[in-house]
Amino acid sequence: MVQTSSRSLAAGKALESIYRAALDFVFPWTCHLCSCSDELSRRGTAGNFCADCQRRLAQDIPYSCGRCGAALGPYSSATHGCIHCRSKPIRFDSLTCLGMYNDALRKAVLSAKWSYSSAGTASLADLLFQFRHEELRNYDADLVIPVPQSWAVRLRRRFNPASVIAAVLATGLGVRADEHILRRRRMTRPQKRVSVQRRFDNQKNSFGVRDGHVVHGKRVLLVDDVVTTGATCSEAARTLKQHGVKSCRVAVLARVLDGR
Ligand SMILES: [Zn+2]
Ligand SMILES: [Zn+2]
Repeated sequence: MVQTSSRSLAAGKALESIYRAALDFVFPWTCHLCSCSDELSRRGTAGNFCADCQRRLAQDIPYSCGRCGAALGPYSSATHGCIHCRSKPIRFDSLTCLGMYNDALRKAVLSAKWSYSSAGTASLADLLFQFRHEELRNYDADLVIPVPQSWAVRLRRRFNPASVIAAVLATGLGVRADEHILRRRRMTRPQKRVSVQRRFDNQKNSFGVRDGHVVHGKRVLLVDDVVTTGATCSEAARTLKQHGVKSCRVAVLARVLDGR
């Protein structure tokens, strides 16, 4: 009996590798960022990026602000936030990101966001988990919650990048992702069209919580694709905390530093 099941297991694995080889032949692998097809450089990398692109995307951030995640110089003061967040009423507690919104990460995030498939976003989320897993695990989240899109945005896009990233992080951390708890209560003006100073006001009371008892006393990892001023995530965190959330860390692919 044992012999039969080990034989069928081996046969299954052989079939799977034949299937994968056939798929690779019909749809050769290409890097999600530079479109090179250098299979060798892909080995040992996370997501679907070649080694060069992975280096450009997953940045080494030796010093960062504990409050907003901004990369800082070694002598910058960040005791009560940093130059990028000190004057802002941010309500989340800390932020983890793959990197600052530089040329490579910007290109990768935008092309993944507007793609027909969510595969590019999932690849970036894989990188985020691989390169920041220690920080994410140490936070010890009970629940992963993506920032929801408004219904108007949902009509235009095929998927919510925040939900895709949240699913990847939740699987890696072994906790539940829930995209139904947090919801948009009203339409807000697109943040890009509002001055940086008014973005916090623009988001006020824009979120609601379903089944508040589920989040009560929980440590939440709130997920979005990009954070600029932090106004959207801050309002989401404020709403969650009104419903008893104990702490809220934000996880994003990229932190934009020019949105002061
Ligand atoms: Zn590449
Ligand atoms: Zn800061």
